[in-house]
Amino acid sequence: MSDTTRSAHHVWLPYTQMKTALPPLEVTATHGSRIVLSDGRELIDGISSWWTACHGYNHPALLTALQKQAERMPHVMLGGLIHEPAKELAARLAAITPGDLGRTFFSESGSVSVEVAMKVAAQAHWNRGDTKRTRFVSFLGGYHGDTLATMAVADPEEGMHKLYRGLLRDEHVVPLPKNDSDLIRFAEFLQEHDDVAAVLIEPLVQGAGGMRFFSKKILQGLRAACDDAGVFLIADEIFVGLGRLGAMTACEKAGVVPDVMTLSKALTGGVCPLAATVVREPLFEAFYSDHAEHALMHGPTYSGHALGCAVANASLALFESEPRLEQVRAMEAQLAEELEPLRGLRGIIDVRVHGAIGVVQLESIDDMAALKTAFIKRGVWVRPFRDIVYLTPAYTTPSEELSALTEAICEVVDDYRKR
Ligand SMILES: *Cc1c(COP(=O)(O)O)cnc(C)c1O
Repeated sequence: MSDTTRSAHHVWLPYTQMKTALPPLEVTATHGSRIVLSDGRELIDGISSWWTACHGYNHPALLTALQKQAERMPHVMLGGLIHEPAKELAARLAAITPGDLGRTFFSESGSVSVEVAMKVAAQAHWNRGDTKRTRFVSFLGGYHGDTLATMAVADPEEGMHKLYRGLLRDEHVVPLPKNDSDLIRFAEFLQEHDDVAAVLIEPLVQGAGGMRFFSKKILQGLRAACDDAGVFLIADEIFVGLGRLGAMTACEKAGVVPDVMTLSKALTGGVCPLAATVVREPLFEAFYSDHAEHALMHGPTYSGHALGCAVANASLALFESEPRLEQVRAMEAQLAEELEPLRGLRGIIDVRVHGAIGVVQLESIDDMAALKTAFIKRGVWVRPFRDIVYLTPAYTTPSEELSALTEAICEVVDDYRKR
């Protein structure tokens, strides 16, 4: 290969000002909770590759499932065909999701699974004869993906939303209720707007919008408000689902059954792109009719990708054969203890932990590059954004490596705030 074909000159990186950003680090391998760089250095990963690699990198059970499936059948179209890995995965998802959530539509990215959820919710109303319900309610601080429909339900102050405003539909993005009186106002708002098809929420933790936590009482109140108004509730569990909060789903932890749930990031343990939109039985029944036009018209080319489904089945099996949720609970305690020294220091607004998420919120971060570089120097992969430095490690991260991550955060953040 020539030097030109080896260089990064043809790659356009995500969320990156290609002219001014720090050059990307070249990765040649991964193992456990580590990223191996081309110059031989190893970084302990505090982010698990955008929250996907929940069992650590290169888990043998996942690699074996991938290899076995690859030898037999990497993929066939799901139009008119079905296969065992997809059937097994849909059954597994029905078992781990709360209530009568039980019918799964497969896609290949989180954003698309949210778009499918939005189409399902709206069309279910239409199929039942209520054609005015064409809009969505979502919350400030929320994030549901980067496609046009999902950007429109994100926080409008988000850079991306602002930037693409002219392209986006006008949705109801409202403050997340904080208490009972807010919940009453929210219920009234839903009653007054008969154009709403569904409410979209990231249950218990708003992730990419700033790692903000809220109580299960609020989620329960939103569920009740949706029920009263005849509006569907879509729980976007792409970040919080599959163990991140110490339960298989955040909704289960909160005792709430949404009408639709989306899952993706940790679904294949970070091995294959795959996403699921899981729907409750009564909603599915709105599509199950003698009318062709009542069918859901969506069909990703790679829907039910066999490699992805096989790996996801192996990944979900690991939650049964290895003590994954106990590991998350132990991680929660360790994160809380080891990040605590930062609490109350000048320049630090908040330290908060929920499950395998540890967050240090600063007054502001104005030299992001300095902070990122300091972490790499310390041998850890930590990616601050907005005003927060956070950890979302693999659930299997050994306790001494977790300590290396929290120590790095304590020292780097302490240096940074004293500048
Ligand atoms: C990451 C994320 C998405 C988007 O998933 P992609 O696979 O990046 O399209 C949607 N919702 C939430 C809550 C996410 O964290």
